[in-house]
Amino acid sequence: MADKFDVIVIGGGPGGYVAAIRAAQLGLKTACIDMYSDKDGKASPGGTCLNVGCIPSKALLDSSKHFHHLQHEFGDHGISVKDAGIDVPTMIARKNGVVKKLTGGVSQLLKGNKVTFHHGKGILKAGKRVEVTPAEGGETFSLDADNVILASGSVPIQIPNVEFDGKFIVDNVGALDFDQAPATLGVIGAGVIGLELGSVWNRLGSKVTLLEALPDFLALADRDVSKLAAREFKKQGLDIHLGSLVKSARVKKDKVNVVVEGDKGESTHTFDRLLVSVGRKPFTDGLLSEDSGVRLTDRGQIEVDDQSRTSVPGVWAVGDCVRGPMLAHKASEEGIAVAELIAGKPAHIHFDTVPWVVYTDPEIAWVGQTEQELESAGVTYRSGSFPFAANGRALAGGNSAGMVKILADSETDEILGVHIIGANASELISECVVAMEFQGSSEDLARIIHAHPTLSEAVHEAALHLDGRAIHRGN
Ligand code: FAD
Ligand code: AMP
Repeated sequence: MADKFDVIVIGGGPGGYVAAIRAAQLGLKTACIDMYSDKDGKASPGGTCLNVGCIPSKALLDSSKHFHHLQHEFGDHGISVKDAGIDVPTMIARKNGVVKKLTGGVSQLLKGNKVTFHHGKGILKAGKRVEVTPAEGGETFSLDADNVILASGSVPIQIPNVEFDGKFIVDNVGALDFDQAPATLGVIGAGVIGLELGSVWNRLGSKVTLLEALPDFLALADRDVSKLAAREFKKQGLDIHLGSLVKSARVKKDKVNVVVEGDKGESTHTFDRLLVSVGRKPFTDGLLSEDSGVRLTDRGQIEVDDQSRTSVPGVWAVGDCVRGPMLAHKASEEGIAVAELIAGKPAHIHFDTVPWVVYTDPEIAWVGQTEQELESAGVTYRSGSFPFAANGRALAGGNSAGMVKILADSETDEILGVHIIGANASELISECVVAMEFQGSSEDLARIIHAHPTLSEAVHEAALHLDGRAIHRGN
């Protein structure tokens, strides 16, 4: 007879492992199945985020930022260094160490919470039966559950005529593991992943060219932020070509020739390496048996309602494999909400206040709606902003690029969106998420005491500016 669980989670990324821990905390007998293997073939729970996404990219962004500062900014502080060098294999080994520590930590957390973990591939069959094929060999076995949570994540989108070969034409996995900075790096897609990984190798000496099909830069972000970002990235040497649709790429004599269709017809660019970062798609290969009853949307996502229920009662789905932004914190919050719903508790996800962050330099972060979204929805709003160039702490730290912009409803003053570009934007945005969650007004932010000198004073001043009473800038 198959082992019976209250909850089986398929997928051990930030959606799946968090759901499993929360379910176990709530007293539910829980199993988690994840097939990700490290280079030695061992289990490495944590999914894309910990293994080849959020964490390793931030490790390399931090290493490369130190190197960049050493070469370009320490001089201003009177610090001189001779023969600054970067040993890429050491940097990569450090990144791998960070990943190992965190994935090992997830294993410990699962164990500590008494979650039964299986390293292998899970397939959902009819009747909430899950068949597991162990990754390290051995017999396939079955588990039964009252509830199954699908958290199978996503994989990179591949474009026609541009085939990954793992060496010259790579996805995020390859670009997190180059053994040296390529002299020239082409990046297809100037989205979040392309900008972050392009920045890493640009700082380490690669000549980086981003080829972006859309005519607008960072179209998802507020237009003032994208304008400022484009200016800063250009200064850093990132060569961004907008309106450039990549048609094909071929490797010839250790070079990648990329054919691009732009305003002026077709052109060919040649690079040493090519990163394809044109977005990600839900991953459901081999996850569902034909009789599982779980429906997919025409975009290949697992179909779910507002509370993550699939078309089969007792089967739920969270994270990148369902609708909504492909972000780790969104996946985790959905995982927690589902575990709580299964345990009979109330739970909800507030998609309007999911923060977005791009970890470039300066960082970009936002929550809520952009100015262009408010305009097209016909909402009347007031706007206030404050440049970091007028913030004491930013100047003291050499971080004067960027600004904070707050948008609030003209009538009620409720905050509708906050857009930050600048140092530590990823941390500064949290205050604004809290304010929006509490349905706060710009007046609330304007009346809260912010410590001096801090970057957060720019949030305070932007709120004051919205009402024409900023202290440290003209109104
Ligand atoms: P995943 O993390 O993809 O995990 C799914 C897991 O399920 C995987 O381990 C997979 O092997 C396993 N699996 C799939 N099918 C099966 C099966 N049938 N049986 C067993 N196991 C299975 N997001 C952020 O919020 N912040 C960032 O800074 C950020 N940076 C990123 C940088 C890069 C380079 C990339 C690629 C992504 C980044 N993301 C970031 C996105 C983030 O990684 C994803 O949103 C997040 O990992 C989604 O979590 P998930 O649990 O849904 O899926
Ligand atoms: P993101 O979804 O943030 O990862 O961004 C992916 C980016 O890739 C988007 O801005 C797309 O417009 C862009 N993109 C998709 N296909 C192509 C292509 N063939 N050539 C150039 N850019 C592309």
